[in-house]
Amino acid sequence: MHATGNKRRKYYYAGILLLLVVLAGAASAAAPAPQSASQLLALAENIKTADNAAFAKLLQELQGRTAELSEEEKWLLRYMQAYQNAYTGKEELARTQLEAIAKEAPDSTLRTKVIGTLINVLGVEHRYDEAFEYLDHALDNLTQVTDKEARFHLLGEASQLLSDAGQYELAASYANQIIVDYPNGRNGCIGRMLELHDKLSGSQVNIAKDQFQEGINSCLAVGEKMIADAIRRDMAVLDMQQNKMDDALALLQEHYEEVKGFNYPALAADYSALLAQAYWKKDNGLLAQKYATTAVDIAAKSDFTESLVESYQLLYQIERQQGNLRDALAYHEKYVAADKEHLDDVREKALAYQIVKQQVETKKIELDGLNKQNQILQLQQALDHKAMVTSRLYIALLLTVLASIAFWLYRLKRSQLRFMRLARRDGLTGILNRQHFVEEAEQALRYVAKSLRGACLILIDLDHFKNINDTHGHVAGDHALKRIVSICQKHLHSSDVFGRIGGEEFGILLPECTLIQALERAESIRQAIQAIPEDETEHVPLSASFGIASSTHHGYDFRRLLIAADSALYRAKRDGRNRVVVSMNEHAPSSFSANGHTPGDNLTNAAP
Ligand code: GH3
Ligand code: MG
Ligand code: MG
Repeated sequence: MHATGNKRRKYYYAGILLLLVVLAGAASAAAPAPQSASQLLALAENIKTADNAAFAKLLQELQGRTAELSEEEKWLLRYMQAYQNAYTGKEELARTQLEAIAKEAPDSTLRTKVIGTLINVLGVEHRYDEAFEYLDHALDNLTQVTDKEARFHLLGEASQLLSDAGQYELAASYANQIIVDYPNGRNGCIGRMLELHDKLSGSQVNIAKDQFQEGINSCLAVGEKMIADAIRRDMAVLDMQQNKMDDALALLQEHYEEVKGFNYPALAADYSALLAQAYWKKDNGLLAQKYATTAVDIAAKSDFTESLVESYQLLYQIERQQGNLRDALAYHEKYVAADKEHLDDVREKALAYQIVKQQVETKKIELDGLNKQNQILQLQQALDHKAMVTSRLYIALLLTVLASIAFWLYRLKRSQLRFMRLARRDGLTGILNRQHFVEEAEQALRYVAKSLRGACLILIDLDHFKNINDTHGHVAGDHALKRIVSICQKHLHSSDVFGRIGGEEFGILLPECTLIQALERAESIRQAIQAIPEDETEHVPLSASFGIASSTHHGYDFRRLLIAADSALYRAKRDGRNRVVVSMNEHAPSSFSANGHTPGDNLTNAAP
């Protein structure tokens, strides 16, 4: 896992809380000392985020003066109290309050806003299936929402949640509706931030940099510096994807201090993590380490975000490069744990979305079926009075319709099952994705460990793969990846576990296999890759490097095997690539430094 592919990488960020804040509305100038409870309420609404402490005080005062408020105002006050609970991290309380208001409030505009906030809270609480259920329902009724602010609120949440679930195109289309509703102003700025982020996450390679600049300008025009900086973060990601590290660094550095000044640590963590990665790509290990450490310090306090995962991985690589294997191991463990948490979360969202979508479809079809059954019953009753023959024909027709509905229900159930399976597969190559490779490999290891029958792990990383992309484009790169997967598959045994670990990195776990056998099999895969005719690969020579670790030397713990194989792979790269290297030391790699050996002393080369 030398370095993960940039182009395929998705940059998630902790956006949910940001959205709760920005959707809440802008601060307006303080009103002249208000007296009545109604005036206080209106003032409170305006300063919700700009001066939250004063807002909290106002709420408390209003609590004692509810008798002076109209019915409608009382509902609004309840909403603000729930909002404040969400804002201060009391999500569970906020959720119950919001659910009650969403159900009972007489005003549909308020209900829509409440549902928007509720969706946000459910997202923060990781209750994704409920969040999607509310969202789906609310979006169904979107055309009836005439209040533009309420619409904005809902569209914003829709874009955020769908983007989190990997539905970038849909997310971008909702963000775009915001821009249509609000071509200018603060809401338009937020719409642009969301749309650009969705497009970038959806790997739309054709986004022009001008669009980012336009978004930034629209935010600066209304004084929204923080949102402008959130757009700049994505602009830097685009630069990095296009290998313009200097541009990215300049942009991030120029606004880094400002970003740290906002009361929004997730953005500061993102900036630090991106700076670290850009410096690492520029071979500046020292600065990479500095910024990655900062990113971890900030991000570790919150959820498992992409920034945290990537920074741990980077720190692991840095320590490994410097030969500090003990520290490298520690970071690797943190990386794997954070990565798993993060992946689980992302997958949970994607699954929740699919499941809600399918449930809705199933419900619609079931409803349709019920209606048809009713029609048949009614017709049968009418038979006495109507012409027999035509009615029978009609009944036959309806029965056919009913049968086809049953058939569609069956198909839907089947596709639900298929989706569950697909969530385990890598989209491009169809083999196990990283998470499930790890799960299956761990399971296989537990099994062989019982009988001490031994197992080996082979890691494969394609050599200079970036060249293919850079010279011949991503499509050619994708083609080569599929070709290589099919070569590996030809060399697999039925019990082997094969998966895509990262961009152009693969893993094979070989149960009941000795080190010599693993070496032989890796070597034949290596030769087969090297022997791919050049006219199939746009005349770019393909080769791969291999790292092997065996349970005989490293035990049956998957992560230890992974680290050992990764060290061997790293060594294979350093020694000139296109070769197989075996990790031979008897303990975990951390014992290298303890023994005073260099990692190389414990590694065996099988050079081509
Ligand atoms: P080496 O491993 O030999 O050090 O060099 P490399 O060029 O392979 O280095 P690195 O691992 O940094 O780059 C991997 C590249 O793989 C970066 C990215 O462009 C590409 N890549 C990752 N995932 C995909 C993918 O799904 N499709 C395509 N076409 N390219 C990918
Ligand atoms: Mg790589
Ligand atoms: Mg590579």
